[in-house]
Amino acid sequence: MSLRVSETYAHPPEHATCRRHHADGNLVLVELSPQAVIDQPRDASVPLELLTFGSVRETCPKCQHTHLQLVLRQSSVRVAHLFCADCESCFDAHYSNGTPALTI
Ligand SMILES: [Zn+2]
Repeated sequence: MSLRVSETYAHPPEHATCRRHHADGNLVLVELSPQAVIDQPRDASVPLELLTFGSVRETCPKCQHTHLQLVLRQSSVRVAHLFCADCESCFDAHYSNGTPALTI
């Protein structure tokens, strides 16, 4: 006779599973308008300061080889997103099941 583990332990939350499996759980990237996520300074001569929180596994769909940078909410950033420093594009990321990937 063997002890069976309860069903609940066999089904961790979907996003936790994705993070552990490195090869799959690909993120779906949706391009966002930079105006929608970043507060642009009114004076265009003022440089926009973006704090990034390291690069992620995903690469830019436009540049192909550039790894995206994680940008979390900060003074001039309204929505956490992934940012490509090369083409200055912003992307939202979610899992294929629709779970947002960038919320903490
Ligand atoms: Zn790019």
